[in-house]
Amino acid sequence: MGEEIETASVVIVGAGPTGLMLAIELCLGGVTPVVLEQLPEISDIPKGNGFFGLIVPVLDYRGLLEPLRTEATYAGPVPRFFFGPLTLDFSGLDTSPLQVLAAPQRTIEHKLAERLTELGGTVRRGHELTGLSRDGADAVTLVVTAPGGDYQLHTRYLAGCDGAHSGVRKLAGIGFPGVTSETIARIGRVRVPADLIVAGTGELDVPGAGRLRIMQPVRTASGSYSIGPQASVDKDAPRDVYIVSTQEEQPGADLTEPMTLDELAGSLRRVIGADLPMSDPIWLTRLGSNSRQADRYRDGPILLAGDAAHVFGVGGSLNAGLLDALNLGWKLAADVRGSAPDGLLDSYHAERHAAGQRALLQTRAQRALSRGDVYAEAARELLGELLCFREPVRHLGELIAGSDVRYDMTGPGQAGQPPHSLAGRLAPDLRLATGDGVSRVAELMRPARPVLLDFTDDGRVAAAAAGWSDPVTLLIAKPLTGTAAADAVLIRPDGYVAWASGPGAADPADGLEAALRAWCGQPAQV
Ligand SMILES: Cc1cc2nc3c(=O)[nH]c(=O)nc-3n(C[C@H](O)[C@H](O)[C@H](O)COP(=O)(O)OP(=O)(O)OC[C@H]3O[C@@H](n4cnc5c(N)ncnc54)[C@H](O)[C@@H]3O)c2cc1C
Repeated sequence: MGEEIETASVVIVGAGPTGLMLAIELCLGGVTPVVLEQLPEISDIPKGNGFFGLIVPVLDYRGLLEPLRTEATYAGPVPRFFFGPLTLDFSGLDTSPLQVLAAPQRTIEHKLAERLTELGGTVRRGHELTGLSRDGADAVTLVVTAPGGDYQLHTRYLAGCDGAHSGVRKLAGIGFPGVTSETIARIGRVRVPADLIVAGTGELDVPGAGRLRIMQPVRTASGSYSIGPQASVDKDAPRDVYIVSTQEEQPGADLTEPMTLDELAGSLRRVIGADLPMSDPIWLTRLGSNSRQADRYRDGPILLAGDAAHVFGVGGSLNAGLLDALNLGWKLAADVRGSAPDGLLDSYHAERHAAGQRALLQTRAQRALSRGDVYAEAARELLGELLCFREPVRHLGELIAGSDVRYDMTGPGQAGQPPHSLAGRLAPDLRLATGDGVSRVAELMRPARPVLLDFTDDGRVAAAAAGWSDPVTLLIAKPLTGTAAADAVLIRPDGYVAWASGPGAADPADGLEAALRAWCGQPAQV
């Protein structure tokens, strides 16, 4: 190990989707982190099949949606989605509450890595965190094993984005309470006989089982299965390659032996009661199901995000992980720059731990509905009746999307005031006329700076915020589509509304100064 100890402001461990997104956010905030990744290159192991939820529109607020859309087989709102074994039909709603971006996870990681490079960031690949010691309450020293030799790294902040088995979380002694269920998932990417593929729908017509529906979990008496052509998420995949997965409750199942094609075929036979001929396995895996959440997302200089902070066992982890990164990045950057108001960094745990609890709630409910007992059957039937109504469908759609989460924006001096209906939610993507031309809110947010939109005729709200013109982008604007539903809106760098007034308020700047101090720090001139 070298004698000299390298120093850094922020070290991120893990360059999966969460770590890459956090690094992008920090770079946008003017802080270039050291990113350590144990793997020599982005893994080809198939994992997620894309994003669903609020992160899809939020990617547009960073200019990342278009580059990803070109790689995706689908990007946009969906007419229906699944909730465990049930279907949410959004077609009766004005707008679908759920957006999807279907692309292989490795493609998403490549795009995020490209963006990081454009911003001047790098990833130290082949560098593994192997040890950690605290230097008082405010810093940590890391031991890193790397191809050129081990070294030490002293850092003010350490962000653990190192996945479900997070070494950072374990070394920091942060608890990860929750449950491990007895449900075993088996997943394979395999070839199926072309003559079983139903032209037009992509369903599989299996002798003895009939047509197997695709792209949705299907419950049977002994478990559930999900089948879909790989080409539905990966444009380059051959049409006879399918993702086949099963779920069965198997207490005490041996998870140590390597997974085989025979095991997948046997599981599918038990679930559908017939044989699907499968060959040429490209990838096979067997997963237990954990539903856990770190008991704290911040412990002094150590922060957790993504799978290191939560695992749901049902899906939606990418949505939650990237929203963690969006929430944490600007706060951490402001802290490192010395401009963060008191409590800003602590609001990361407050906001995202609560969001993680909502995700645990809905994923555990999906798991419960998928069970095989009479109680789950009754719950499925009853919830199925409720899903004939629009509001329950919308409610569950927003819950899955993560858009039901409303951050508490009550800053100092604002307690007791009823929050504006926009406060704490993602700012709507209004099309606006500003002094600089026509723009959309999503485009204005791309530099990841706070934005104050003043919709008053005389620009008096922007004038009241003149002392914050650095870092806040102050804009006098007119909505070109829809209405702003406000006289003025202060948007945080992560796209969430920190404060809003009106419409038609007697003093449209009432409460603005307190909000600016709470989220953006002190003004340049007092
Ligand atoms: C089969 C499968 C299918 C899935 N499908 C979906 C899906 O459809 N939708 C969805 O939302 N999610 C899905 N997921 C979950 C999704 O893949 C994860 O939620 C996501 O990868 C989490 O991202 P992350 O960046 O938080 O962690 P990870 O992707 O796990 O990244 C962590 C990174 O940290 C690195 N690392 C770990 N320890 C160290 C160390 N000590 N030093 C240096 N580097 C380290 C790892 O090498 C890794 O690159 C699926 C997962 C699997 C396994």
